Amino acid sequence: MMKMRKILVSQCLYGGKTVRYDGGDTTETNPIFLKWKKEGRLIPVCPEVFGGLPVPRPDSQRVDGKVLTGSGKDVTAEYIKGAREALRLAKENDIIFAVMKQDSPSCGSRFIYDGTFTDTKISGQGLAVEYLRNAGYRVFGEESLEQAEACLTEYERDET
Ligand code: SF4
Repeated sequence: MMKMRKILVSQCLYGGKTVRYDGGDTTETNPIFLKWKKEGRLIPVCPEVFGGLPVPRPDSQRVDGKVLTGSGKDVTAEYIKGAREALRLAKENDIIFAVMKQDSPSCGSRFIYDGTFTDTKISGQGLAVEYLRNAGYRVFGEESLEQAEACLTEYERDET
């Protein structure tokens, strides 16, 4: 029988735990996501919490190869630690791809904030997504669930 492949997801999309920097709730309710959740496919990760950062925590952005808080504190080491742990779990669970929360300095896959703390988004990716992609994993944002579902269907068809 075909082994059910796992999908790495941002913990704040998975829900059930307060992990976001602002303590907010961004639990995903899209039926595709809920189906995967019910199937037991999802591996939730929060790179920033894995990195040892508290909840809530200061808003941080990628700035010139580092990650800084709005007041200029360098939190790059925590972000790297969290990105490595997310990648370790991706490998350990043999994931097929990841679905990560858009715009985050860890989890953003198409957009991030520009490092000026002026609420300006630019094309870019978070640090954990960079690690995942560098290791060869495909990463989608929560706005691309249909595309991710198509990818999964294609994979499972090829496997049978
Ligand atoms: S690091 Fe990722 S999983 Fe954690 S709160 Fe931020 S966007 Fe969500």
